[in-house]
Amino acid sequence: MHTESDTLHFLDDEGDPEVGRELVWRLLIIDDEPDVHRATTFALSGVKILGRSLQFLHAYSASEADRILRVESDIAVVLLDVVMEREDAGLALIKIIREELKLTDLRIILRTGQPGYAPEIETIHDFDINDYKTKSELTRTKLYATITAALRTYEQIRKLDELAFYDRLCSLPNRNKFINLSDERLAGSECKNDVIAILDVDDFSEINDALGHQQGDRLLQAVADRLKLELDPSVILARIGSDTFGLMGARQHVDPVTILSMFRTPFVVQDDSMVVTATMGYTQSLGGGIMGRDAIKDANIALKLAKKNRRGSFVAFSAEMGLDIRERVRLLQALRQAVESERLFVVYQPQVNLISGEVVGVEALIRWRNDDGTFVPPDRFIPLAEASGMIVAIGDWVLRVSCHELVRLQAMGLPNLRMSVNVSQIQFRHPEFLDKLNAALLDTGINPKCLELEITESVAMEDPAFILETLHMVRELGISIAIDDFGTGYSSLSHLRQLPIDRLKIDRAFVTELSQEVSGGHIASMVIELGRNLKLTVIAEGIEEESQAQTLLRLGCHEGQGYLYAKPLTAVQLKEWLQTRAEHL
Ligand code: C2E
Ligand code: MG
Ligand code: MG
Repeated sequence: MHTESDTLHFLDDEGDPEVGRELVWRLLIIDDEPDVHRATTFALSGVKILGRSLQFLHAYSASEADRILRVESDIAVVLLDVVMEREDAGLALIKIIREELKLTDLRIILRTGQPGYAPEIETIHDFDINDYKTKSELTRTKLYATITAALRTYEQIRKLDELAFYDRLCSLPNRNKFINLSDERLAGSECKNDVIAILDVDDFSEINDALGHQQGDRLLQAVADRLKLELDPSVILARIGSDTFGLMGARQHVDPVTILSMFRTPFVVQDDSMVVTATMGYTQSLGGGIMGRDAIKDANIALKLAKKNRRGSFVAFSAEMGLDIRERVRLLQALRQAVESERLFVVYQPQVNLISGEVVGVEALIRWRNDDGTFVPPDRFIPLAEASGMIVAIGDWVLRVSCHELVRLQAMGLPNLRMSVNVSQIQFRHPEFLDKLNAALLDTGINPKCLELEITESVAMEDPAFILETLHMVRELGISIAIDDFGTGYSSLSHLRQLPIDRLKIDRAFVTELSQEVSGGHIASMVIELGRNLKLTVIAEGIEEESQAQTLLRLGCHEGQGYLYAKPLTAVQLKEWLQTRAEHL
């Protein structure tokens, strides 16, 4: 083994902390002739270059060098023999160094015993080789001059790197570095659950104007310090804009609720205690061609939406947000026309009691049919309706249509049938939301106990104080509340416990998962357990197979919905379906 390093200046003085801290240049000698190693270290013994002593690492073949380069860091220069185990072993190693290991700062000095093996000029250029020497030029002065030149270049490259990739104010990677780091992480295998987020300090430019740049800078430093301290060390943190930070890490470590709550404690800047909030946009669609730069763009789109909603909130990116602007405009115009020409309609999907098989309710789902009979899926146009504000009118319309339908259905001999209506967060936050809800109840005369609102888990977790208050008022009207797509959001148990809710709706993904073996148990069973503890009814959506229904029943799930029972049906189809079912039960 030759991987041990012999430090010329301060041999194995590891016990002495002063010596340990001394800065050194690390040089790797790669040569299959032991004499060359000896001659080199001898020629440079005791030498200091640019104020630092030299530390040597030794490799006696290209493959050994390869191993060393993969584990050692901060090697400044390699002195590389061209011909070793193979004629081109040295040149092949250079390719690995530059292309695979991406060690671009590292300086390479090529040496060969046979002048005939000089690489092509293009190779020297393409692989950024510092110098080329024959071994006869191994004299002390020549070596000293060559290595000094290489180290000087190395130092300059490092300084440039620092400028190009490092934010000095907050001592963090900058935007470029963040892109590189996230690309690296995306290329690896452990990022399936990762999130890339942008965190924006609210009203920073106002703070800067009011208190001066110095104070503004200190505030940013304080924010950066808090994030460094409180974020999990595995999270990549960078300053990617004047008042924005980039984060990448596992979903549970880049949890928006947790991160935004890090701003609850005021920041102490000099002797002032400053209260600031932040807004967050993030994306979970990573990989598959979506690299760091695209992800930042996506997170930024989400961030803009979040800011538009309310400062201090967060929004997750969805593919619809990324539609290019022309496509959005076209779709939006088409949506307006669809609303006007009444091409929107509501379908109803039955919900059953898993034990008795009895139909307990229906969920209202909106549909948009084009003139040619094709459908635009709600997942596509609802985000657009939300972004444009049209969702408020559309949502109100769905609410009224379905309340009217409920009156007719109950009259068919199902007096306790429940109507579940999806409510978008924009709708939910609208100042007139409660008035409209009340008006719908009064106009249709339905029993509020038979109306249920579905809000998604992410909405329920946002802005706890506001949500809590609104939910209480909804409940005061007698209306019940279900948390939709449960398991996909960022629930904090303590928050969930406080919410006045009636039902958890297990997301379809976790019902599908029931058909497979999953290590660590099924999420569905955890949700059902959670429901039991919180004394909530649990309904599973997207049940397609009898076996899924059986498993859910066994786990203690109360209700189910899915193609196994019925697809979403028009009002007419639903009546037929209900009648046939009543005859067969
Ligand atoms: P959601 O509220 O989670 O609705 C359940 C979705 O799962 C529906 O998709 C439904 O058609 C589908 N589904 C039900 N059973 C099965 C099954 O067994 N297998 C499969 N593969 N799918 C099943 P849809 O109708 O496309 O709606 C998508 C989403 O759009 C809804 O998700 C909801 O978030 C939203 N949405 C629909 N209507 C409205 C509305 O009136 N207002 C608002 N704000 N959002 C709505
Ligand atoms: Mg729903
Ligand atoms: Mg759902």
